[in-house]
Amino acid sequence: MSTDNKTEESLNFVRQIIEDDINNNGYTAIKTRFPPEPNGYLHIGHAKSICLNFGISQLYKGATCNLRFDDTNPEKEDVEFENSIQADVKWLGFDWQDRLYHSSDYFETLYGFAQKLIREGKAYVCSLNLEEIRATRGTVKEAGKNSPDRERPFEESLSLLEDMKNGKFEDGTYTLRAKIDMAHPNMKMRDPLMYRIRKIAHHRTGNKWSIYPMYDWAHGLSDAIEGITHSICTLEFEVNRPLYDWFVNAVDIQKQKPKQIEFARLNLEYTVMSKRKLLQLVQENHVNGWDDPRMPTIAGMRRRGYTPKGIRNFCDMIGVSKVDSMITYDQFTYSVREDLNKVAQRVMAVLNPIKVIIDNYPDNQVEEFETENNPENDADGTRLVPFAKELYIEKNDFMEEPPKKFFRLGIGREVRFKGAYFITCQSVDKDEDGNITAIHCTYDPQSKGGNSPDGRKVKGTIHWVSAKHAINAEIRNYDHLFSTPNPSDESDGKNFLEKINKNSLQISSIAKLEPSLKDAKIGCNYQFMRNGYYCLDKDSSNEKLIFNSTIGLRDSWGKKKS
Ligand code: ATP
Ligand code: MG
Repeated sequence: MSTDNKTEESLNFVRQIIEDDINNNGYTAIKTRFPPEPNGYLHIGHAKSICLNFGISQLYKGATCNLRFDDTNPEKEDVEFENSIQADVKWLGFDWQDRLYHSSDYFETLYGFAQKLIREGKAYVCSLNLEEIRATRGTVKEAGKNSPDRERPFEESLSLLEDMKNGKFEDGTYTLRAKIDMAHPNMKMRDPLMYRIRKIAHHRTGNKWSIYPMYDWAHGLSDAIEGITHSICTLEFEVNRPLYDWFVNAVDIQKQKPKQIEFARLNLEYTVMSKRKLLQLVQENHVNGWDDPRMPTIAGMRRRGYTPKGIRNFCDMIGVSKVDSMITYDQFTYSVREDLNKVAQRVMAVLNPIKVIIDNYPDNQVEEFETENNPENDADGTRLVPFAKELYIEKNDFMEEPPKKFFRLGIGREVRFKGAYFITCQSVDKDEDGNITAIHCTYDPQSKGGNSPDGRKVKGTIHWVSAKHAINAEIRNYDHLFSTPNPSDESDGKNFLEKINKNSLQISSIAKLEPSLKDAKIGCNYQFMRNGYYCLDKDSSNEKLIFNSTIGLRDSWGKKKS
């Protein structure tokens, strides 16, 4: 089997293992899987795992990647989450094709494997309750105590397991345990649980089962059943690896056993990544749902206007390693901004408007200027932007008495109105309190299209919107959801919820947009020229357009900090 052409690129350690297996260990088809538990929405950390697992399947001939729902904890799981996970993986640009599986597909098979281990003296039904099991497990320094049921005859265990399965016993009365070693230096190996009784309906298997498999038992065997070659997970499972191997070897259904490989999980500044915490943010209404644009969920990021390619580039950039680290938010926005710069449609939007009147422009005249939609991509075409006597510009593009270095509009100064004309400011109107109500200007008809008529230069180019054509919009501006870089660090005695940034959402309703934006589409990225990247929010209606601020044009957060 040949590897791809990117030989000059240095391989991350996971790919080194895989290439070594292909080149030296006789592996012919690499099989990975992405195994989310359907108990929440996917977040940017999952994206790292998706890019790694599905990415590998795109690199090697014959390689595949399964999407497997690890659905062994019915109380927290739901089809809503399964649907969102599928939508998010697809949106990120990956495809499991016909390889969609559920651990619950294997409940019957796993049960059969458990019976086999019981018959072989490798598992037993234990009557200690969870408390007693914990109490007899020992410590890192001290061996645990054997369960009184450890030598239970296998026939008895088989029949008890059958009764457990069929709901004869209450939760917590019996468990099935692997018979390994109560003195093992790795605590995970001290007769770990394989099944516990849980009389609760499962979103797929209903009330058929009163026992559900534990993670280590279900996960390794699901990998083995699917013929996974490399089972990639995060570092905290390193201590589980001996148990993973023990189960896979004990059941022994294939020659080439799946290999568990651990990598460092993604931690990103100013957010939390644990599903439990994300669920709490949603349930306690600290945010407006899983897809709130401030959430680190894929759904939130999509709604915010981050692009799948930007996220994939980010995952490539941060790489895959064995060492936990905290990634700065700037690294994330850098990747997204790079992609947005390529794909965003350029438009003019005035976020904080002030009126301009061109005194020498004919009262009812309207001109339409053909404007490129995206200078980075000719295929995006052009549109017509109307220009008329009354316009809006940004308040901060005007100063009554500007300093020398201010290259925007000021009384007596000339600037270019982007794509339209050279405009000179003549005077201002003020109300009784001295607030400017309108700026009076003149235009040079010879400068049509924004081109200099006689070689004279202007230093500033500003954006504008025709007042009578402008459409109103609400703009939602976001800041980090948390005010500290590592909100999960509770060493200061404060819970992550106490670190929520109270000002993370700011709404403004005064924006004036160029009229083409009335046809804005959800999922399309816009660059509001000189202002930043924006996208239409799903809360929009025909009567009211709402745009989310995705990110600024430049790295304003980094600057703010310094
Ligand atoms: P949580 O502990 O918050 O519930 P999880 O890791 O249990 O998250 P799963 O649904 O089990 O969530 O994760 C599916 C896959 O995504 C696993 O292989 C897991 O290792 C990986 N994953 C989860 N979080 C991250 C992260 N922050 N960085 C990289 N991979 C992650
Ligand atoms: Mg998990």
